[in-house]
Amino acid sequence: MSNEGRTPRPSTLRGDPLPPPRHAQFMRLTYPRDGRTLLIVAVGATVYGKLCHWFEGRPYPCSCPSAACPGMGAGWMPRWYGYLDAVEYRTQIRRIAVITEGAYRHCPPLQRADGSLRGKVLSLERMGRGQNAPVRCQVTTDAVPFDLPAPSDVVAILERIWGLCPGMLQANQEGPDASAHQEQLAAIVDAKGGRNGNGK
Ligand SMILES: [Zn+2]
Repeated sequence: MSNEGRTPRPSTLRGDPLPPPRHAQFMRLTYPRDGRTLLIVAVGATVYGKLCHWFEGRPYPCSCPSAACPGMGAGWMPRWYGYLDAVEYRTQIRRIAVITEGAYRHCPPLQRADGSLRGKVLSLERMGRGQNAPVRCQVTTDAVPFDLPAPSDVVAILERIWGLCPGMLQANQEGPDASAHQEQLAAIVDAKGGRNGNGK
């Protein structure tokens, strides 16, 4: 058998073969916008926490205090976001729901149920206009009128959304407690010459 006449495999500009296709499912991120309420059903059991920079309407994973983090270069402080494997209640479309730190913090029922969230209906309400308005989370008592799909690997999906190599995110998982990343925030402030710009 000869390969003559076949279309050559696509390659990168350097001539390296393309990496093998990723098998992570693709889902889009979702969050409530402009004073609206988003009703979701948790498919996964746990909220996955990650420090991120919010930029142009979407979160990007933070690798501060590495100078390679674009957020670090731009001087943006990272914030904690929780990511939940979910399905939209009304449309039944699979999404990764983005839960802000404030929403998580001010919702003790969510914190208590974190780890056994599957099947719970959450209401995420944007408390005002603008994408920075605070979000309120409530765990409702609504019943789910459809069968839940099998849970997905949120970490693998986030890696795919953010173009990271498989395995990069697990090591960097952060807890929802702010104290877990105080050290990291302090390192960033130090690296930038102190909060008041006067060194240490
Ligand atoms: Zn960063």
